[in-house]
Amino acid sequence: MRIAAFFLVSAALWAQPPHSFPALGSIVRENPGLEALLDKDARIEALESGFDWSEGPVWHRTGGFLLFSDIPRNSVMKWSAAEGISVYLKPSGYTGAAPYGREPGSNGLILDAQGRLISMEHGDRRVSRLEPGGGKITLVDRYEGKRLNSPNDIVVKTDGTIWFTDPPYGIILPDEGTPAPQEQAGCFVFRFDPETGDLSVASDAIIHPNGLAFSPDESLMYVSDTSGGLDPKANHHIVVLDVVEGRRLEHPRVFKVMEPGVADGLRVDEHGNVWSSAFDGIHIISPGGTDLARIHVPEVTSNCVFGGADGRRLFITASSSLYTIHTKVTGSGVAARVLREAQASPARGPHG
Ligand code: MG
Repeated sequence: MRIAAFFLVSAALWAQPPHSFPALGSIVRENPGLEALLDKDARIEALESGFDWSEGPVWHRTGGFLLFSDIPRNSVMKWSAAEGISVYLKPSGYTGAAPYGREPGSNGLILDAQGRLISMEHGDRRVSRLEPGGGKITLVDRYEGKRLNSPNDIVVKTDGTIWFTDPPYGIILPDEGTPAPQEQAGCFVFRFDPETGDLSVASDAIIHPNGLAFSPDESLMYVSDTSGGLDPKANHHIVVLDVVEGRRLEHPRVFKVMEPGVADGLRVDEHGNVWSSAFDGIHIISPGGTDLARIHVPEVTSNCVFGGADGRRLFITASSSLYTIHTKVTGSGVAARVLREAQASPARGPHG
């Protein structure tokens, strides 16, 4: 979600050659527990800039590159160390007539265990999947016969089921989608089984569910509520819920109130720490809710993902830019698990 205010990055930074990667930002260390996660001399680097609103980063483990959405430009961007930035997919999630003169496309992205790119499409209000032989199919676009609001973010469980959030931003914010009446009775966290086609509401307990991630053992799910981004009296926190029978999310309780801003996208590392976006960068929070650190970047931050050849590099999408920082940990979840397995088996090792 785009938040109205943002910090301007100094012109001096953008005057640098494209691949000089200047150090910038600051790391506020709030707890000694951070030493297991970040080196003392870890530095934040700016990789690329010039995007309208970057979101939905995902590391392509076999290709050795990063993909992320530039939502207002209806594009999925590709970044690699060797080749820099390029357009990977356009249109990324809007194929209509653009009645408002805008073509907002995909938001959250992820790869399933087979390496297929799954996109949360704001413009076309669907969950889609790129097929290995080419072409894109719709996985989900309706629930009980009514159009989804605007699928926002996504995770894949190890059993292959797809869990996604459906807040209203794509149907109420022109930069995020196409304004339209909301057909759903609320904003839900959905569970979708691509094998059976079964779609169900996993939770209706969150006003505007946005970023989401499982704990490493998948017994818990963290979901951000970004309703406070539009209404200061609403929520700007992360909720944690129990995963019940692999199908439902129950017993919601507030895990962390985010300040400043809201938690748009978030990830969980292999030890269960939560790495959440906020107005001022990435906040690292222990599984018990202790603040460990803040990685400050000079723009409003939307999301992050672990990637790189060793899986220990954090990529950060923030407004117009892409940032990165090397860490000591990998992410949890399907993508990180497959990457670790590939590294343990040289015959299946990732490129790059
Ligand atoms: Mg989001």
